[in-house]
Amino acid sequence: MTDTVVIGAGLAGLTAAIRLAEEGQSVTLLTFGVGGIQLSQGTIDVLGYRDNKLTPKPFTSLAKTSDPGHPYSILAPSTVEKAVDWFAAQLPDLLLPGDEANHLVPTALGAMRPTYLRQPSMVWPDPGSVAVVGPRQIKDFYPELMAANLERTTTVKATGYHIDLPAREGEVDSSPIVYAQALDDSEFLMRFAKAISSVISNEDAICLPAILGLRTCAHMTLVEALGRPVIETLLPPPSIPGMRLNEALLTRAKALGVRVILGSKVTGFETQKSRVTSVILHQAGRDQGYSADNFVYAGGGFESGALAMDSYGKISETLFGLPLVGADQDDLITGDYWADQKLFRVGVEVDEIMRVLDKKKVVYSNLYATGGLLAGATRWVEKSGDGIAIASAYRATESILGEVK
Ligand SMILES: Cc1cc2nc3c(=O)[nH]c(=O)nc-3n(C[C@H](O)[C@H](O)[C@H](O)COP(=O)(O)OP(=O)(O)OC[C@H]3O[C@@H](n4cnc5c(N)ncnc54)[C@H](O)[C@@H]3O)c2cc1C
Repeated sequence: MTDTVVIGAGLAGLTAAIRLAEEGQSVTLLTFGVGGIQLSQGTIDVLGYRDNKLTPKPFTSLAKTSDPGHPYSILAPSTVEKAVDWFAAQLPDLLLPGDEANHLVPTALGAMRPTYLRQPSMVWPDPGSVAVVGPRQIKDFYPELMAANLERTTTVKATGYHIDLPAREGEVDSSPIVYAQALDDSEFLMRFAKAISSVISNEDAICLPAILGLRTCAHMTLVEALGRPVIETLLPPPSIPGMRLNEALLTRAKALGVRVILGSKVTGFETQKSRVTSVILHQAGRDQGYSADNFVYAGGGFESGALAMDSYGKISETLFGLPLVGADQDDLITGDYWADQKLFRVGVEVDEIMRVLDKKKVVYSNLYATGGLLAGATRWVEKSGDGIAIASAYRATESILGEVK
């Protein structure tokens, strides 16, 4: 028996597990996979866009939300801010603290994307000119394309350069992960810096693909070696900064004593009256029950299998069979790629402390739903999924810890 069982190791599950363990609870985290953090950019978005307009100050915009079903209208803006500040403070070596404003960070396509919390290697110093440099052996990074688009979207003068430096002897096509592993080695790092110095001109700053080390970020070493600001540029997934964030969170959780059981699926549960008493983990060919006082369900959305649509178009929550809102509409998906697809607003409705509701009644008094499971947001359009995951998990922990009723 543990105090709390958390299901899922994405941003929501790890947030809940770390906060509860930090406050002295015994926590068991059960998860099938590693969650979406490694696919994300290693940044934390709170609210990048509202009504398709960039939000310079996300918390101010949260306060103005008028959509009653949106997770941010259930979570007070002050809770979201407190939760995100707490989250940044957990990883002071990896994340810069928030300052109430969104920041623009460059992507590999040369577009500037808003985010709230950044890793120090992503700070855009507003340079007059920038050298965009990438190893010829990385196929997902085209320095000339990024430079041309940067000139279109910003006022910077940008020039693209290639370097010829295989991460592994004779390899002509390497993934960003192979480079990041190579750059963990100080000797390769110095050769990398030398290769960059030999091609660039006197630009104010240098943009590199996000490959600057898997275990530790080589950013500051490169800044010193190259004598000017260096900016890590976001690549398509899997993402090295996302892997750094995932690793840092898992390390923090384990250091606080969270028992992490990875690689097995929770397939069932038991209840007594209106409480969940245990969940069943299917592990090594057998079922094992895990009982606890409280359960935080952080199973994500469609992408993690917590929500599923069958061949008849019926949508369900796959573990507890929880009621969903927004699922009974005809036009859940439209042919317009850029449209606000209603499918992704389907999810679980919760009360103000994240307990699941069925027609406004609490389903289980000790089951909390968080993160991608929650109804009402189109997360990647708004750039709100990270903030929702952190704030909803934090709110659930406030209730479990008796900080709110
Ligand atoms: C294509 C795409 C792009 C996105 N872009 C953005 C963006 O730009 N900005 C933004 O803020 N958000 C974005 N989001 C949303 C964001 O990624 C999610 O909201 C966020 O990752 C959700 O975190 P989570 O912890 O709730 O779930 P996840 O990270 O999905 O983690 C769920 C976890 O639960 C586990 N799990 C599920 N079911 C079980 C089970 N039965 N037993 C055991 N374990 C289980 C999974 O293995 C996983 O570990 C995007 C989402 C998608 C799909």
